[in-house]
Amino acid sequence: MVYDPQNIFARILRGEIPCDRVFENDHALAFRDIAPQTPVHILVVPKGAYVSMVDFSAHASDAEIGGLVRAVGHVAREAGLEDPGYRILANHGADARQEVAHFHVHVFGGRDLGGMVRRAPA
Ligand code: 5GP
Repeated sequence: MVYDPQNIFARILRGEIPCDRVFENDHALAFRDIAPQTPVHILVVPKGAYVSMVDFSAHASDAEIGGLVRAVGHVAREAGLEDPGYRILANHGADARQEVAHFHVHVFGGRDLGGMVRRAPA
């Protein structure tokens, strides 16, 4: 899939639309999801143009990958989620219902998150 520079997270990264920013390092930006599904729901995105985990894992530099993973750990720790626990998730493609085609990691927490994967509605 070709990267679309007009996707919503690219526009957030360029400062064209606002976000509730929680953390930033050289390679990643973290901000609150606009429609949180748990009491804490933070998105961590690479600053580089990657469509999804497929693209990011194949083409990002070690520094970019490290920056993103460090950012995920940092925001979860700063949100106080380490002790109660949290979940990270990244959707790729249609079966996972990826909506925004700029790679992002969801950080969910703040309540018991239940089982891992729900069945899709019939
Ligand atoms: P996906 O299904 O692609 O893994 O998740 C996309 C996420 O982006 C959804 O949880 C959705 O609520 C969130 N989202 C979509 N548009 C915006 C936006 O403009 N701002 C923020 N902060 N989150 C958004």
